[in-house]
Amino acid sequence: MDLEVSNSYHQQGVGIVGAGLVGCLAALAFNAKGFSVTLFEYRDDPSKTKNDNLRSINLAVSARGIRALKYVDEEMAERILEHIIPMKGRMIHDLDGNQTSQLYGLFGEAINSIDRSFLNECLLEEIRHTDIKVLFNHKLVAFEKNHGEDQTPKMTFIDTSEGDAASKTFEFDYIVGADGAHSQFRTQLQRTMRMNYSQEYIDMQYIELYIPPSESAKDDSKFLLNPNHLHIWPRTNHMLIALANKDGSFTCTFFSPWSVIEGITSTEQWISFFKKNFKDAYDLIGEARLATVYETHPRGSLLQVNVYPYHSPDGRAILLGDAAHSMVPFYGQGMNCGFEDVRTLMELIDEKGGDVLEAFRSYTEIRKADLDAICKLALDNYHEMSHKVTSLWYLTRKRIDSL
Ligand code: FAD
Repeated sequence: MDLEVSNSYHQQGVGIVGAGLVGCLAALAFNAKGFSVTLFEYRDDPSKTKNDNLRSINLAVSARGIRALKYVDEEMAERILEHIIPMKGRMIHDLDGNQTSQLYGLFGEAINSIDRSFLNECLLEEIRHTDIKVLFNHKLVAFEKNHGEDQTPKMTFIDTSEGDAASKTFEFDYIVGADGAHSQFRTQLQRTMRMNYSQEYIDMQYIELYIPPSESAKDDSKFLLNPNHLHIWPRTNHMLIALANKDGSFTCTFFSPWSVIEGITSTEQWISFFKKNFKDAYDLIGEARLATVYETHPRGSLLQVNVYPYHSPDGRAILLGDAAHSMVPFYGQGMNCGFEDVRTLMELIDEKGGDVLEAFRSYTEIRKADLDAICKLALDNYHEMSHKVTSLWYLTRKRIDSL
């Protein structure tokens, strides 16, 4: 169902913590309904700073995520979808570099590759054409639920752009915490209510790598691998994947248990490990780039976070996206689910005739079973792999089959 623009709930202020993927979509969705929205982000404005985030992941956008984007704004979704690269199958690379294509379906069914930072910037660009107020360099440090007689929640931020790191306080009718897996808003909210919370790290790390475009860049030949496949180098307990970017490059992710990466103690060992296990990728990435990756790129942890309930008892605050349900990435649904959170909440706001308190309460009730299920599937898949199958290839197949 498309957003009914006639539903306009003016003059109610919504403060959103975190201008990541989910916070941005939530801001656009509330704004489209006529709420006055302020979006707070810890980082600097990416349009004004060089992107030195070495953890820029390529995401698979699935039907779930696309439906939510279209729900918020059909035209915006079309603008964003212009930048995706459909992947119609997986391409398996064996140890000798032989490639085998496995199509997902008989009718061109595809999952879609997009760079996470780029998608985030697309959403921020959409926000620039609205009256949403965005405050970058604002780090949430405190939350108080009951302030004054009207019970308006208040949040305190440190403005890191100011020399003396000034602290500022804001009041809103409603607050959305969308500040990711390590959510400070969640920590603050937990002090004020009985919220169940669990966190589990899995024994797996990831590192980002990069395959450049072909130097003889002419039309399709700019891609060194087939762009319409998800490339997978499955090995016994580790794997490499690569997803295409529009500029002809590929973003790769190397996943392994921590013991594998920690057992590699020098750049030379890393390069020979890579050459042995991923010979064709080694040729495409190049030794110099591999050395830089080993020496400078961060190793990411993977964790699952679950909370219950998602909203505060007074109905003024709610957690969306990874702040509420960070999941391990082997189902490729973290962001897609976060986008679905936004659509579900907006549908409830309409259903409740603009009563946000009621919508927040109902959200917890109706969303829990679905979120529990998808987080469990993602984690079970990891456990199944690590205890029974010991093959990341098995895990990858299950992830892709689920999209
Ligand atoms: P985030 O993207 O973490 O954004 C949170 C924002 O809050 C950030 O901008 C942060 O700077 C800001 N913030 C944090 N603290 C504060 C504070 N105190 N004050 C103010 N702002 C703050 N998902 C998919 O759907 N498909 C995939 O294929 C997929 N692949 C993945 C692969 C890997 C390796 C990983 C790690 C994840 C993958 N995911 C995938 C998951 C996806 O990346 C996340 O689910 C998604 O980024 C969550 O978005 P979010 O907006 O909730 O949180």
